[in-house]
Amino acid sequence: MAPRGLYRPEQGTFCLPGASALPIMPGLPPRMPWRSRVAYIIAQPCIGVKTGACAAICPVDCIHPGEDQMYIDPVVCIDCGACEPECPVEAIFEAEHTPEPWRGYVAKNADFFRKT
Ligand code: SF4
Ligand code: SF4
Repeated sequence: MAPRGLYRPEQGTFCLPGASALPIMPGLPPRMPWRSRVAYIIAQPCIGVKTGACAAICPVDCIHPGEDQMYIDPVVCIDCGACEPECPVEAIFEAEHTPEPWRGYVAKNADFFRKT
């Protein structure tokens, strides 16, 4: 399945509606300058699965393993959306679209990187 976002690895770019394509620069910048909120998070369905498929496709290597699940570094994530369709158990969500029972995973993801 194609990535849901506008991430275009074959072209080395991602783009936003109404904007020109921007080059993918791993690590530069750490996130889009106009974004201050958490982009994508990983929720409960990852627990016990942890296939790593999301981490393998992330262009900025911001998905890291924890003891129980994988976590997305909210500072480094560039909000490209490439990881979401890769997850076989649909554990990845845009933070603001996280289902209500799993809303606590938004803070859990952020807390993971404050402790490490
Ligand atoms: S692809 Fe899904 S289940 Fe696999 S590690 Fe990533 S979030 Fe967890
Ligand atoms: S949206 Fe997913 S693939 Fe894209 S940078 Fe963030 S964690 Fe990585």
